[in-house]
Amino acid sequence: MRSEYADANGSRSVYLTFDDGPHSVCTPDVLNVLAEHNAPATFFVIGVYAGDQPELIRRMVAEGHEVANHTMSHPDLSRCEPAEVRHEILAASGTIRSVCPGASLRHMRAPYGVWTQEVLRTSAMAGLVAVHWSVDPRDWSRPGVDTIVDTVMASVRPGAIVLLHDGCPPGELQRDDPEAPREQTVKALSLLIPAMRDRGFAIRPLPQPH
Ligand SMILES: [Zn+2]
Repeated sequence: MRSEYADANGSRSVYLTFDDGPHSVCTPDVLNVLAEHNAPATFFVIGVYAGDQPELIRRMVAEGHEVANHTMSHPDLSRCEPAEVRHEILAASGTIRSVCPGASLRHMRAPYGVWTQEVLRTSAMAGLVAVHWSVDPRDWSRPGVDTIVDTVMASVRPGAIVLLHDGCPPGELQRDDPEAPREQTVKALSLLIPAMRDRGFAIRPLPQPH
């Protein structure tokens, strides 16, 4: 399981990842910011959302981003039976492939970052590399745009995998701002990309497994 990538060629690479989408409002906003700054990202999408909003999956791929597996319904997999773990991972891959046959699925992230031997084994069987993160500004808790930016900039280093969110898991939709629950993340992202580049970081797609 990967939390960051060693920076072999001294290029100060940083990897942006977004979990828990696609979301009808937030994901297009995130995609717009990424496009404006010409920055690639990996989206760990929830299968049921991908099935509901196939056009957003296709847009991610069309705009050069990677779509990755974040399970079908976002359970804590440590509480699931092996058959459920298999279903959660395989059904999400199946859904992504059916809505976007051109998507190359290579990575998987467990909900809540809860990895078990069963999850790692099943991911490997499904041809997916397990990807965790090394920088977590807890943007999902909406701590404020400046806090998100400052937390990332304080801990980012070459090879870092940054965890952000473009959606909310089922059952965790935020009541006070159901329309745009990731507005802080979107604003923070528009500040983070130039700030990282000013510090000499290159934002790159996740390295592809051989
Ligand atoms: Zn998640």
